[in-house]
Amino acid sequence: MAENEQATSALTALQRQRAIQEAITHLFAPEDEGLRHALSAAKTGGLPEIQISPLEGKLLQFLAVTCNARKILEIGSLAGYSGIWLARALPPDGKLITLEINPHHADIVRQSFAWAGVNERAEVRVGNALDLLPTLQDEAPFDLIFIDADKAPYPSYLQWALRLSRPGSIIVADNCVRGGEGLRPPEQLQDEGNIGIATFNQQVASNPRLLSLALVIDDGFMDGFTIAVVRPDTDDSK
Ligand code: SAM
Repeated sequence: MAENEQATSALTALQRQRAIQEAITHLFAPEDEGLRHALSAAKTGGLPEIQISPLEGKLLQFLAVTCNARKILEIGSLAGYSGIWLARALPPDGKLITLEINPHHADIVRQSFAWAGVNERAEVRVGNALDLLPTLQDEAPFDLIFIDADKAPYPSYLQWALRLSRPGSIIVADNCVRGGEGLRPPEQLQDEGNIGIATFNQQVASNPRLLSLALVIDDGFMDGFTIAVVRPDTDDSK
């Protein structure tokens, strides 16, 4: 195949991939006014557009319902977009706690939750997650824990997720593929965020208490979630 034919066919494959992803989103994960409002509030508030995709939101809901989640913990709220997806998977007496270091982000999260009608079961707590996580022990276990904050401490977030979960809990972390960087041996990496993610992936994959998988689902199948379930035959004390 000539070079320009190859380039054209690669472009066509990419376009088809995108069209398929859009069609799946349209059919299975359409955004309503509440979700759209969280996105526009983030934009107006000058927040970066680094929220999860609608497909990831739907997958979070799917996982939450699968593990019968009544209590969910999120690390990294931004403007509340993923929090809305998660809170909507909870029963009326369920609870989402989301941790956010930036008070300006937290203000927008509160408005987004109110707009989306989930503020009765979704609460944002402000502070560094590594300081807040030890304060949550009385409220544990959480049925689902979603990690989506700064990347370097992902291994510490994993240790807390294990401490604050129960057998059957699901642990999800975003940005775990990063174009393949997250799957490389950490000692070959320079960027501390990538090192955090690669170390996290190694620890999740090798932990006998966890059944786990990385899924490419975002950014043109270049990034996505690592998901893990705490095996039902294990307990926190091990
Ligand atoms: N989960 C959000 C969503 O999809 O809608 C996106 C979260 S965004 C990728 C990461 C957020 O984590 C930012 O709002 C940032 O301020 C917050 N964050 C970063 N480091 C943090 C820390 N150490 N503790 C708590 N929050 C942190």
